[in-house]
Amino acid sequence: MAKKITLLGSTGSIGTQSLDVVRAQGYEVFGLSAHSHTDLLLRQIEEFHPRAVCVTDPAAAETLDAALAGRAGAPKLLRGPEGLRQLAAMDGADVVLNSVVGIAGLGASLAAIESGHDLALANKESLVTGGHLVTRAAAQHGVHLLPVDSEHSAIFQCLQDKESAKSLVKILLTASGGPFFGMKAEQLKDKTKEDALRHPNWNMGAKITIDSATLMNKGLELIEAVWLFGLPPEKIQIVVQRQSIIHSAVQFSDNSVIAQMGAPDMRIPIQYALTWPARGGAVAPELDFAALKVLTFDTADEETFRCLAACKKAIAKGGLGPCAANGANEEAVKLFLEDKIGFLDIGRLVEAVVDSDSYGGGYTLADVYDCDRMARAFVHARLGF
Ligand code: NDP
Ligand code: MG
Repeated sequence: MAKKITLLGSTGSIGTQSLDVVRAQGYEVFGLSAHSHTDLLLRQIEEFHPRAVCVTDPAAAETLDAALAGRAGAPKLLRGPEGLRQLAAMDGADVVLNSVVGIAGLGASLAAIESGHDLALANKESLVTGGHLVTRAAAQHGVHLLPVDSEHSAIFQCLQDKESAKSLVKILLTASGGPFFGMKAEQLKDKTKEDALRHPNWNMGAKITIDSATLMNKGLELIEAVWLFGLPPEKIQIVVQRQSIIHSAVQFSDNSVIAQMGAPDMRIPIQYALTWPARGGAVAPELDFAALKVLTFDTADEETFRCLAACKKAIAKGGLGPCAANGANEEAVKLFLEDKIGFLDIGRLVEAVVDSDSYGGGYTLADVYDCDRMARAFVHARLGF
């Protein structure tokens, strides 16, 4: 029987590439969700015939409702953040793939896990903001957390030999370095969103593309790796690998290193999350070593790229520190994309919110949302608007 997938955030960069994998694998689609792109969602409904869909933006939900009216076999329409949680929890899917952007994905991640679904996770913000709640729920409900993020998929792939995995001592988390690699603050201060949106190796949604330019993405991924693989942050080394061919590596007790390589194409890690523990067919081009010639390695410049330094401070503080860093970043990126703040302001704001509190200790889901609101308010208070 074909595997059934619920795909949250189906209209995004990961969402549409996930549907390429669904086509290639002949999977069935149980559920789809979008925030506002109803035209694309409608085309996806016509192609994949899901049983249920969710639209989180209220006006867009009205538009889709009108478009579906009177159609035979139309999917059940759910709405808003509560609808997204309901969709994630609905019986009928074998796996839920969460590719929503931002903390907006956290509630659905928890709902999928608590209803006993394996969770293929692209939405790294779920683990950054609520890592303790997400990993505890996954353990309690006996479900698998399957990383979609390319670096975490690479690490996961390198750790499939359970005997070796017991001897893991270090993770080498690779980073492309983004479009501004090698630049100093003086060169970065006037960078516009158009400059920052031009990523050298990956074609992604706007928020993660800005996060890649500031190195916030690598900070979020370091926190994501701590939760997924259980190593302390000081055992996770960031390695700049400009070509994005080595997607990450692991080091064992005997100093042997195993890396995962492949073309920079997200369909490979997406497919692995869905076919695991088996492997599917070629969904992306093979690596051409004759054309490749060189692989380069560098260190990340945390003095310049303050977001990365701030994320390290946040995970060292523990508790809600990473949630605060994430909330400030989401708000700052939004303001940067609206041309209201400069590129370097993003790092300044994220670092300031992390420095403003001790953050440690346990937390509930309500605490996470409170902290997120606080961090966003902090950004506005700092900027005076
Ligand atoms: P996109 O911006 O391309 O897509 C985001 C998706 O989430 C869209 O379907 C969007 O709907 C939906 N969405 C937006 N806001 C909300 C909301 N408030 N509530 C519910 N749904 C919402 O992002 P990406 O696909 O690039 O990234 C998705 C996630 O995957 C992020 O967490 C990112 O960090 C992670 N990731 C992405 C990679 C990539 O290559 N793109 C690589 C590794 C990880 P609509 O289109 O209708 O607005
Ligand atoms: Mg990544």
